Amino acid sequence: MEKSNGLQVILFPLPLQGCINPMIQLAKILHSRGFSITVIHTCFNAPRASSHPFFKLLQIPDGLSEIETRSHDVNLMLTLLNERCESPFRDCLTKLLQAPDSETERKKQMISCLIHDSGWTFTEPLAKSLNLPRLVLNATKASFFRGHFALPQLHRERHLPLQDSEQEDPVREFPPLRKKDVYRLLDEESEVLDAYLNRIYDATKSSSGLIFMSCEELDQESLTQTRQDFQIPVFAIGPSHTRFPASSSSLLAPDETCIPWLDKQEDRSVIYVSFGSLVTISESELLEIAWGLSNSDQPFLWVVRVGMVNGIKWIEAIPEEVMEMLNKNGKIVKWAPQQEVLKHQAIGGYLTHNGWNSTVESVCEGVPMICLPFIWDQFLNARFVCDIWRVGLHLENRIERNEIEGTIRILFLEAKGEVIRERIELLKEKVGTSVKQNGSAYQCLESLVDHIFHLSSN
Ligand code: UDP
Repeated sequence: MEKSNGLQVILFPLPLQGCINPMIQLAKILHSRGFSITVIHTCFNAPRASSHPFFKLLQIPDGLSEIETRSHDVNLMLTLLNERCESPFRDCLTKLLQAPDSETERKKQMISCLIHDSGWTFTEPLAKSLNLPRLVLNATKASFFRGHFALPQLHRERHLPLQDSEQEDPVREFPPLRKKDVYRLLDEESEVLDAYLNRIYDATKSSSGLIFMSCEELDQESLTQTRQDFQIPVFAIGPSHTRFPASSSSLLAPDETCIPWLDKQEDRSVIYVSFGSLVTISESELLEIAWGLSNSDQPFLWVVRVGMVNGIKWIEAIPEEVMEMLNKNGKIVKWAPQQEVLKHQAIGGYLTHNGWNSTVESVCEGVPMICLPFIWDQFLNARFVCDIWRVGLHLENRIERNEIEGTIRILFLEAKGEVIRERIELLKEKVGTSVKQNGSAYQCLESLVDHIFHLSSN
């Protein structure tokens, strides 16, 4: 940490892996700039205190039952969290700001602002009543954040089944999605979505600034449009994990045996397979992927989370003879040190769900992707990877052994794969430049730090 600057920032992440990682990265960045950091977090998916010795962690009750924490309906979970955390959060924040014994502490370490995930929608009146400036961090790509406010309208218009001839049509309100993407995206969403999105919109518009883990090189048009739409400062501070490499914010223990296993593989020969922290698949999809990987003859490292396959505990549905074949050429783990894995010279491709963190981590390491999006912003990220940046191949939801085998072969063995590899190297360079001194993300981070100082002095 730089010498303390006498200012404290309070952070409030959503308790999902893909939201915790960027918030903790931001915490580390601000801490390195001399801010002291307080993280208010729920009991559910709480960060490990031992991993963050320099932060003050304050836990609030979230009221989720054991069954609710295991729900796969993320929208429902976010709705419940917003309902049940409002009052505990109010108590915690009020205590932090107003407790008499903290008065001297407060003078020593003035609380300059609250930075919360855009998914928390109840913070506005509270922060206002406490006269506390509030910034919003959104963990998706800026183009998804901006476009997803069109979902309620698209939801209302989606009353007819999609004709085959319309599948590939572009969606004007939400580029570069195609109609079939929006239909799949909306299939996943429950009715509570419309009101929730309105609340996110209002809470963002009334904030003192919006932060994205993106950069002009990945999001230029959307960033310009978001600045116009919201009329608040927007900071695209870049892929933050490049500043603080190893992720200490992992909720699951990564299986470190991946790395010595990768050390034994040839350069750029391994396909890494992971669908992040939320996606679930069926037993038959598990088997199709297993066969596809095995038939491709390419070495693979495959993350199957416990509970990721509906109805079974882990991978026991894979028949023994298939397991024998898989073990010859690959390794299956329950959770990987992903950033280290993607950095490894043995990795030559990533079969991914295209969560925003994973997509950016892959771009930053120049690893071309095979895209298999399942939910939410993953559809948009996959379109960017395949249609706009052209640094990956899209499986178009064909979770079928021959498709998987064929696509892996194209990526690793054919000229088309080589061209994709060259393109992602160029993109990697551009994004890398953005976080270096005077790059666009670097400058945005400087502006963010200045902005927080400025908020404190008002
Ligand atoms: N991740 C990891 N090990 C794994 C799988 C994922 O450390 O085995 C990390 C990954 O590096 C990323 C985050 O978990 O930072 C997943 O976030 P993302 O936005 O990609 O997907 P989500 O989990 O939100 O669907």
